[in-house]
Amino acid sequence: MSSEQLSNAAIADRFELMADLLELEGAVVYRVLAYRRAAKSLRETAESVARLSSEGRLTTLPGVGETIAAKVAELLGSGEIAALDKLIKRNPPGATTVMRIPGIGPKTARRIFTELELETVDQVREAAEAKRIRVLGGMGEKTEEAILEGLKDGAAGAARRTSIGRLLPLAERIVQELGRCDAVVRCEPAGSIRRFAETGKDIDIVAAVTNRLTASEAFVAQDWVADVASRGDNRIAAVAHDGTIVELRMVPPKVFGNLLQHLTGSKHHNVALREAAVRAGLKVSEYGIEEVETGDVLACEHESEVYARLGMTWIPPELRENRGEIEAARKGSLPALVEIGQIRGDLHMHTDWSDGKATLEKMVEAARARGYGYVNVTDHSPSVGFGMGLDAGRLRDQVERVRTLAEKLAPDFTLLAGAEVDILRDGSLDYSDELLSELDVVVASVHASHRLSSADQTKRISAALENPHVDILGHPTGRRIGTREPNPLDIEAVIAKAVETRTIIEVSSQPERLDLRDTHVRLAVDAGARLVVNTDAHSVAALDYLRFGVATARRGWATAADIMNTREWPELKAELGP
Ligand SMILES: [Zn+2]
Ligand SMILES: [Zn+2]
Repeated sequence: MSSEQLSNAAIADRFELMADLLELEGAVVYRVLAYRRAAKSLRETAESVARLSSEGRLTTLPGVGETIAAKVAELLGSGEIAALDKLIKRNPPGATTVMRIPGIGPKTARRIFTELELETVDQVREAAEAKRIRVLGGMGEKTEEAILEGLKDGAAGAARRTSIGRLLPLAERIVQELGRCDAVVRCEPAGSIRRFAETGKDIDIVAAVTNRLTASEAFVAQDWVADVASRGDNRIAAVAHDGTIVELRMVPPKVFGNLLQHLTGSKHHNVALREAAVRAGLKVSEYGIEEVETGDVLACEHESEVYARLGMTWIPPELRENRGEIEAARKGSLPALVEIGQIRGDLHMHTDWSDGKATLEKMVEAARARGYGYVNVTDHSPSVGFGMGLDAGRLRDQVERVRTLAEKLAPDFTLLAGAEVDILRDGSLDYSDELLSELDVVVASVHASHRLSSADQTKRISAALENPHVDILGHPTGRRIGTREPNPLDIEAVIAKAVETRTIIEVSSQPERLDLRDTHVRLAVDAGARLVVNTDAHSVAALDYLRFGVATARRGWATAADIMNTREWPELKAELGP
């Protein structure tokens, strides 16, 4: 195989492996991070890395400097990177797999391999089964359980799904470019992306076209296309440089609504919908709705006509999971879901005072440009580690700076001084009550000790909710989709405690968090809890993640009434209490 054909994903994998192995060897953090950043950048660029390299333009990518560019060139030229080969030879082959198991990490993985003199993943599994890992200092039954859980068949499967945060921008770009083709009348993403499911396997695009050949040509000519995977009469699939498979389905405009409905899913929603239709003597398919008795077929240009024919109001895609939406649509009792335009402010964001990338002034300016009425600045408390958190003195300095800036911005815009305070292992907070009382809005979050028992974790968070200075519980379950399981937690007890203490629960818009997740939002809404959709932005660009949080709230059936930051500041302030 000629090395020029290496895909972006394959190239990025090499650098990710390099970062993994360096981390395993205990290399300095910034070197590991540099390779991770480069891998992410190489993976996510829509252009061909091989082409960029041959044109000498690789260093235009964020996180790719001369050193990385030289290694990419080496890989493309010779098929290998000498430095990586050395690392591979020095380390046991399974170590990176074990290291990625939630709760294990590089240090523990390295110790298991070296101290037990193991070489393969299977040997590690056997050692865990034979309870031989607990003999190592600092490891116990929990470590063995984590390993067995992490190595279970299919445990890695979840990671193979891609985050909506990566799929959606590519899908939108494809749709926008296709829209410029004369043969394309209408075009929309379908499938899991349209429902804003947190992850998806691939991208489905539906297009109403007047000429399939012209539309297909426009599709494959787009510069994200690495390869054409398959072609059919009215479909074509391509592989993107980042490995994502994109399938375009083409139909005449008069049945666009039928196909869009069909391909949006979910499978469970469509099955339930078809069953409901059968009882009414109708047969629903991607080609139309057939009246069984007469054989008449209704073609629907618009999706709403599909639902109307079935005696239902149109169902927003985020709700199509067969969780009661069909019944509600028939009764006309679907909730008026919260909309992104209703969000008036953001109560959780970071600046370069802690681990954010932008200055306080830049973050505020960007938030104002997005039309918000208020934002709350919430940098980290000291326990978050790496010297990134603000000690009491620095926080007071920041509050002063925020107050000065706030004066200049008032009354058109309200700038609030807050913090994201760590909830410590015992449920106490990382700042004193006195300091917290000087802040406008306090977000409290868990950033360490993720693997407490469910009872202890629930107790810990409940204790934090009892603190009258805590206004918002940040990213409640601590999950990182694909890399860290949610903390064991009695979520219903936490929601009940939040209702009791009048603490607001956050829906984080970070695509790898989306925490609370959709089903938990639904529980919270049903329990009468008050929610907030925050971005937890660590950069200006991350303020745009808001739509993922709003979509997650919508997937949990939340209305504007449930989401506290749909209020203007004076009303929200009254809600927060003294
Ligand atoms: Zn946090
Ligand atoms: Zn945060």
